[in-house]
Amino acid sequence: MKMKAAVMYAPNDIRYEDIEKPICPEGGFLLRIKAVGLCGSDIRNLTTDSRKGDYPHVYGHEQVGVIEDIHSAVTEFKKGDRVYVHPGDPCMRCEFCLSGHTENCLSPGNYLARQGGFADYIAIPKSQVNARSVYMIPDGIDFELATLGEPLSSVYACQENIDVTIGDTVVILGAGPIGCFHAQLAKQRGAFTVIMTDINDKRLELAREYGVDHIINSNTENPVETVRKLTHNLGADKAISANPTTEAQNQCIYMLKKGGIGVFFGGVAKGKIAEIDTNYVHYNNLWLYGHYGASVTQCKKAFDLAMSSRFPTRKFLTHIMPLSEINEAIQLTQKGEAIKVVLVP
Ligand SMILES: [Zn+2]
Ligand SMILES: [Zn+2]
Repeated sequence: MKMKAAVMYAPNDIRYEDIEKPICPEGGFLLRIKAVGLCGSDIRNLTTDSRKGDYPHVYGHEQVGVIEDIHSAVTEFKKGDRVYVHPGDPCMRCEFCLSGHTENCLSPGNYLARQGGFADYIAIPKSQVNARSVYMIPDGIDFELATLGEPLSSVYACQENIDVTIGDTVVILGAGPIGCFHAQLAKQRGAFTVIMTDINDKRLELAREYGVDHIINSNTENPVETVRKLTHNLGADKAISANPTTEAQNQCIYMLKKGGIGVFFGGVAKGKIAEIDTNYVHYNNLWLYGHYGASVTQCKKAFDLAMSSRFPTRKFLTHIMPLSEINEAIQLTQKGEAIKVVLVP
């Protein structure tokens, strides 16, 4: 049996074509995909030599759909269930998983090695079912909206970990979809002032929709000076670098007030080394954190929040497009015209 998929053959060479339909795996199920989000990391993988020549490959990890076929060993779900599947599959046995920190699992599965969600169907393995990565989509929530549970999860985890709270001034460096999630969530957690920096004016203007009080184009003004000006020279309580540059990571440091918290949230190019003034960090009592992923519990809480009326999830969903137009969707996102594109197979 054949199905349609968006298959990557080389960087920027993605073809919508027929491939073999997966079969229902032992201990797992076969998902008929109804919607799949296009993530910044998907775009990075699809436009660079992410698999070192090992193609063809199907990416995509923000998938939701209907269970079409299910192995008899799985009892908590059934055929016809509408589900969201988080891509992670921590082992649930190592010391980190047992302590609740599944985001630090010592032997997690690698969803990037499996066929992804830019297709009509995806096989959901036993490891994902066992890792509690499958969630029922609440009644009244459409498939497109349900894809937004995944991108919110790491943002939610980060702000819970550093406790963004009432009265905070928070700087978000990077006005992409993740940066906009950060801004909105910070406001919702009680931040009084949210400042957003980027180098793209279009993105900055769009960001105003998501709880941002001040925008700074760091190409045309010095973001550190402007943040200092906006905070009576005190600096921000928290600064989160949500873009792929080490320059922004450095800016983070100088924007903070004494005792402030800086987060390196966005990954930078592999092997890239940053030089930082450690004495400045030392004498100003700064806390610098790295952030990646979310625990199973945080994923669940983020999904519940994204699906509830407490968070304006729908506002982030700027484009719904057919999966066959994935190349156009990538361009729209890269140009800063779309916040979040959801693809429908
Ligand atoms: Zn994602
Ligand atoms: Zn583990």
